[in-house]
Amino acid sequence: MKSMPSEKFIPVAKPSLLGKELEYLTNCIEENWISSQGRFVKEFEQKFAGYCNCKYGVAVSNGTVALHLALAALGIKKGDEVIIPDLTFAATVNAVLYTGARPVIVDVDLESWNINPEFIRRVINERTKAIIPVHLYGFPCKMDAIRDIAVEYGLFVIEDCAEAHGARYKNKVVGGFSDISCFSFFANKIVTTGEGGMCLTNEEAVYERLKILRDHGKNPGNQYWHDVVGFNYRMTNLQAAVGLAQLENLPHFLEERQNIADKYKSLLNKNPYISLRSDTSQCQQVPWLFTILVPEKDRDSLIKFLSERHIESRPVFCPIHTMPPYKEFLSSDFFYPNSLHLSKKGLSLPTFVGLEAGEIEMISEEVNKYFGL
Ligand SMILES: *Cc1c(COP(=O)(O)O)cnc(C)c1O
Repeated sequence: MKSMPSEKFIPVAKPSLLGKELEYLTNCIEENWISSQGRFVKEFEQKFAGYCNCKYGVAVSNGTVALHLALAALGIKKGDEVIIPDLTFAATVNAVLYTGARPVIVDVDLESWNINPEFIRRVINERTKAIIPVHLYGFPCKMDAIRDIAVEYGLFVIEDCAEAHGARYKNKVVGGFSDISCFSFFANKIVTTGEGGMCLTNEEAVYERLKILRDHGKNPGNQYWHDVVGFNYRMTNLQAAVGLAQLENLPHFLEERQNIADKYKSLLNKNPYISLRSDTSQCQQVPWLFTILVPEKDRDSLIKFLSERHIESRPVFCPIHTMPPYKEFLSSDFFYPNSLHLSKKGLSLPTFVGLEAGEIEMISEEVNKYFGL
């Protein structure tokens, strides 16, 4: 029997706001606290940090400024170099550029799609100050190897956890493997506050520095005295209210996302044209977006084929080094075959809490049908 294409549009991602979001938001309005000076901000910081086994959380207005704030708090500045992966969202490289430091872009590995620790070693020099591993699409990086390198060369590590809330590396939730970890709570992320972000750290001095820089560089003892140039990167009570409600549902979100990925895998695993990430050893990923690799010649036409059937899918990020603002930062003796390969072949399928089993079946069926299966 010929199955009918879906009439309903299925987006690649959408938030699930079925917990206490509305109740907590209503509290903000009723209590008249809508700026960053409300009780939910502290509570969200403490609970989210606690969930990630970190001591301190500093909530901010989005994930990009979380990265900038982290770099600024660690003193990264012009003349410094920061190592980042070629395959990530542009916010990672932009945050480095805001500080005046030079991003040093390295390739990812083909198996994990994440930054390759061996490639990190190759680019370290006396100007190198920090490494930003990105847990791409919810798959943790090889944090032991990265931390060993950081210790050996005296470098900071800032984890970009924007796509990996609740993912585990060696059975520990990501976020606690670095000097500062940065999260995004944009509407398509695993935990959302609409727009929002957070820095986590275990060091008290770093925590104090993050808080001061988040709030205009205000001296904690004298609120109109500024010792440094800071920013206004604060999160509002309204955002934190949503975040707190989301956090209460995080275990459920993670379970649902795992079920979605398992179902896609079981429906697509006989398709010889599709491959997945192969190296997931020692990590428990949380599928932020369920992402597959297909032959390069098919990728864009498959996206079109699905979109004609009301199914949104997205290509994998473009390699950072190929885009105009970042071209000048590619090292001349460095090639990026892996990120190029993945970005030409990768596509993400709808992955969100609330995606129904029948929809996953229909999407998988359409993907298989595209390949004549
Ligand atoms: C989403 C994202 C960010 C930025 O988060 P915003 O909240 O959108 O500013 C940073 N890094 C990665 C890898 C992301 O996916």
